[in-house]
Amino acid sequence: MAALSASVLFSSSNFLFQGMRQLSAKYAQVALAGLPTVVRIVEVGPRDGLQNEPDMVPTDVKVEFINKLADSGLKNIEVTSFVSPKWVPQMSDHNEVMSKLGKRPGTRFSVLTPNLKGFESALAAGAEEVAIFGAASEAFSKKNINCSIDESLERFRSVTEAAMARNVLVRGYVSCVLGCPYEGDVKPEKVAEVTKKLLDMGCYEVSLGDTIGVGTPGAMKQLLTEVSRHVPLSKIAVHCHDTYGQALANILAALQMGVTVFDSSAAGLGGCPYAKGASGNVSTEDVVYLMNGLAIQTGIDLHKLIEAGHYISSALGRKSGSKVGAASPVKSAL
Ligand SMILES: [Zn+2]
Repeated sequence: MAALSASVLFSSSNFLFQGMRQLSAKYAQVALAGLPTVVRIVEVGPRDGLQNEPDMVPTDVKVEFINKLADSGLKNIEVTSFVSPKWVPQMSDHNEVMSKLGKRPGTRFSVLTPNLKGFESALAAGAEEVAIFGAASEAFSKKNINCSIDESLERFRSVTEAAMARNVLVRGYVSCVLGCPYEGDVKPEKVAEVTKKLLDMGCYEVSLGDTIGVGTPGAMKQLLTEVSRHVPLSKIAVHCHDTYGQALANILAALQMGVTVFDSSAAGLGGCPYAKGASGNVSTEDVVYLMNGLAIQTGIDLHKLIEAGHYISSALGRKSGSKVGAASPVKSAL
């Protein structure tokens, strides 16, 4: 019995060590018919993730984290938010973050701008891409931004107009696309309607967010089928949360539907604000591991990405929220 335990222990640690060294090469990469061969990953950890932290993360840590993410090959990184420090104190260092990052050829740092005032500040700080967000649930919109969906879209119109006049790209988000904490089910038709409005307004892409992570692959396919009746899926990204452990399954369903842009957060940063202690964003490491296994190119070095995830996790004093990150715990073995 003792001998058996020892041999199991030896082989599992050996397996782990080899797995870490050759994460992207050792295991078979098998393409599935009908899936895209290249995808784009949009990293949202520094904004969507860190804004949920109870304590302010030091600016230099944020900047180091973002640079490590960019070093791993991520070309689209949402880095901060130009909202009032009164509402989101964790992002109050937005100007310093932008100036310390500077410009990085080939990488786009985007920022969230909920209104024209935020947009003007973002522009002054050198932002080349901004993001705006609408909800597909009336109850969510009322509770969160205290106005109807249509009213919120009108507010964003001033941002998209100003952005287009200055050649700044605008990305749209629709939240609660597969369920709302107040309303329950959300109609795919409503998501499609809001998505079309954001694209018509000038957004180059709209990211559909399963904000509370309740969706399952069938619901994802149903949603994308409806959305594709109104807008091309080449303009759609999917933003999955892993609250109920469904994110990778939903991403695979979206891949099968032809979606090629996925939002994710290194180390799975960002909990679920509606379920204390539950996980939020799907981790970038897990998404890249999935894509590697499917022989889908991301342009991202998984080892460097895992290091970035470990860096921010240790700065926050906790374990990585990424399954792949947690399975690769020893930095020296990477
Ligand atoms: Zn998110």
